[in-house]
Amino acid sequence: MARRPLMAGNWKMHNDHLEAIQLVQQLVYHLDAEDYERTEIVVVPPFTALRSIQTLIDADRLDIGLGAQNCSYEDAGAYTGEVSPVMLAKLAVSYVLCGHSERRQIFCEDDATVNRKVRAVLAHGMRPILCVGETDEQREAGDAERVVGEQLRAGLDGVDAARATEVVVAYEPVWAIGTGKTATPSDANTMCGFVRGQLAERFGDETAQQLRVQYGGSVKPGNVAELMRQSDIDGALVGGASLHADDFAAICRFHRL
Ligand code: PEP
Repeated sequence: MARRPLMAGNWKMHNDHLEAIQLVQQLVYHLDAEDYERTEIVVVPPFTALRSIQTLIDADRLDIGLGAQNCSYEDAGAYTGEVSPVMLAKLAVSYVLCGHSERRQIFCEDDATVNRKVRAVLAHGMRPILCVGETDEQREAGDAERVVGEQLRAGLDGVDAARATEVVVAYEPVWAIGTGKTATPSDANTMCGFVRGQLAERFGDETAQQLRVQYGGSVKPGNVAELMRQSDIDGALVGGASLHADDFAAICRFHRL
């Protein structure tokens, strides 16, 4: 089953709205119709740049999707500092990161919170990118599959099988994020294959074959082609390299490398 690759650039807390516009303009300068056709390309800027980029995408009819880095699991109310999924959907956001390891580690998001976010995102017609991955210590202890399996089980609790194909899972070993250390293509593929196996147990084989599983962790132009040659890797969640238009464009054009 051919799954269309998804390349998503997670800008984290970088770029004000003016810098964000510039980065998208530089990015599309490097891309052509074949790239868009082969690969779904999404930028995930900070909240403050979403409206500006949405306007740019609309005005220039860009074939770029818009993602958000986080959202509330509540629709509205007295939740100071939170951003509602209703507001994101109104901005034509199509993907929302749920449970990125920085949210889990720095902002203490647990699996139950991540699960509420996944369900809220789906309820508002957007697609969650559920991030899972083990730490260095957990890998060393031989615990990687148990940890990732549990994050998946809890993160997808209550998700209806009929909506499951809208979910994207990003396997991101924590030790590879922002460190310059990448999992070997074969190790990354083994874990993405494990994720797909878990999804098959949960939603059935046919659905699991349609679901996209990304790899994330220090993906760069120099390692993306080999990662993308693996059978169970359907794209990448890219942090650092997505802040440079030429690098992220090269990643999106992996089929030419
Ligand atoms: C990420 O933020 O999800 C990520 C994978 O970052 P980096 O590419 O910088 O490792």
